[in-house]
Formats: sequence, structure tokens, C-alpha cells
Amino acid sequence: MADISKPPVVRVEHLSKYFGQGAARVNALIDINMDVYPGQVVGLMGPSGSGKTTLLHCIACILEPSSGRITLDGEVVYDEHWLKSDLRRLRLDKIGFIFQYPNLLPFLDGSDNVALVLDLAGYSSAAARGRAVELLDYLEVGHRKHAFPRQLSGGEAQRVAIARALANKPRIILADEPTAPLDSARARIVMNLLRQIAVDQSAAIIVVTHDEMILDQFDHIFRLRDGRLEGEVAASELSRSKLPSVGTVVVTPKISNVTAGVEAGSTHGTE
Ligand code: ADP
Ligand code: MG
Repeated sequence: MADISKPPVVRVEHLSKYFGQGAARVNALIDINMDVYPGQVVGLMGPSGSGKTTLLHCIACILEPSSGRITLDGEVVYDEHWLKSDLRRLRLDKIGFIFQYPNLLPFLDGSDNVALVLDLAGYSSAAARGRAVELLDYLEVGHRKHAFPRQLSGGEAQRVAIARALANKPRIILADEPTAPLDSARARIVMNLLRQIAVDQSAAIIVVTHDEMILDQFDHIFRLRDGRLEGEVAASELSRSKLPSVGTVVVTPKISNVTAGVEAGSTHGTE
């Protein structure tokens, strides 16, 4: 469960981002305020072009905002300008990013795709490999550690990508439509996994999604429209108004059950 008595892991204040100048200027984000607490999994929704990816990239310190403030894990990292000189280090230490498609490096096998992040973070080679294998096992894709991305099913590749995003035990996990390539059963499995990780690591997780089927998996929904946050919907309200069968108590299955589901239904090719 999210712990909102603790300080937020992600705090965004009056964040704006525009692209271009003059008549060509696009206001991609306008005065965004958002807090995400330890253990919280929040959804970020909105029509195409509403600013979801831009917001995720600003929080990930991949894209420089135009104004406002971003605080990550208690540290102000952006306040009208970057306050950290080494953003790469910051990303390695604090942030795990899951892309819509696995984006694995094709010339590295499963374990090396995960270990690369740890190599960059300064782990010894043996420690990096050990941790990579441990994580792949945890995600029940350890038996595929020597497989190259082209040999993995869609679900397996996404789990390797999730292992890579989690390798450094980030406090902040950002996922841009991670369930888009998955069918609804597998989307739910991935969401269950993220919920488990949020609790295990006291992490804050933001998931961009269009998928109405997984709305009950979020503690909170933020909706963007034309670069503005429209209003937040608590999961309890969602479950009352839209999803009566789900209720407000989210039962997170054990990891082994979660991934067993993927394994049982795993086939090669796209999912
Ligand atoms: P979403 O992820 O919700 O589909 P985006 O964050 O990708 O939306 O885009 C928000 C707005 O910013 C859109 O109008 C888009 O065209 C614009 N935009 C995004 N990235 C750039 C860029 N690099 N240069 C110019 N405009 C951009
Ligand atoms: Mg997008």
C-alpha cells in the first residue's frame, strides 16, 4: 500500500515544458503539480499528444523542463534549471525506465542486457552478472538468460526489460505504456509485478497507459489534456463508480504466482 504519511518520492511543482519558439511554440506541459508516494503505483492517462511522454521524460531527467521544480527521493534536482551536474549518474542511481517495447540491445543476451546497467553503475563484472541472474530468476525468466532478444517471446523480452529497469533497485520507476504490446491477461500480470515491486522497494511508480482494463491496478490516476493535469481520481472512487467488483483493497499476488501465469501462457512471437 502507498504510504502518504512519508514524503513523496516524486514531487513535481509548477512544471512547464514548451518546444519551439514564437508561432511554432508548443506548450507540451503547463503548470503540472504531482506527488507520488513510496509504494504508490499511479497511472498517467490522456489522449495522444497530451504530454504524457514529455512529463515522464522530464521526471526521468532525460528532457529539460522549461520551468518549475522536480524533487526526486528528497533531493531537488530541477529548479528552473538542473541542480545536478551528473544527470546520467542520477538516472543510474534513482530511476528505472520501462519503454513501450522492450528495446533490448540485440547483440547482448538477456543477462548482459541487465548487467550492462550495473556495469555502468560501477558494479564489478561478477557482481553485475550475479545480480542480473538473480533478478531474471526473480522474474522467472532466468532460464532465458543466454537467449538473445530475437529468441525471446514478447512477454519474456518485456520481463528482461523490466529486470533491466529494476537492476539498480531504483526508488523511481517510470513506464511508458509498458503493457501496450501485451494482451490484457499479460498486461495485468505486469501490473501485478509492478505493484509488488512498489511495496518491496518503497518505490514510486508512474505508468503511462491507454488501457482502461488495468485502471483498477492504480492507487491514483492522473489525467493530462493539452498539457494540463485535469484532476486526479483516487482508486477508491474508481472502484466504486466503475469497477464495483474490484473493491478498494488491492491484493497483490506473490511474484511466483504472477510470473507463473506468464510462463504457462508463454508462446513465441508477439503478444
Ligand atoms: P503523449 O505522450 O501524451 O502522446 P507527448 O508528450 O509525446 O504526448 O507530446 C506532447 C506535445 O508535445 C505534442 O504536441 C507533441 O507534438 C509535442 N512534442 C513532443 N516532443 C516534441 C519535440 N521533441 N519537439 C517538438 N514538439 C514535441
Ligand atoms: Mg507518448
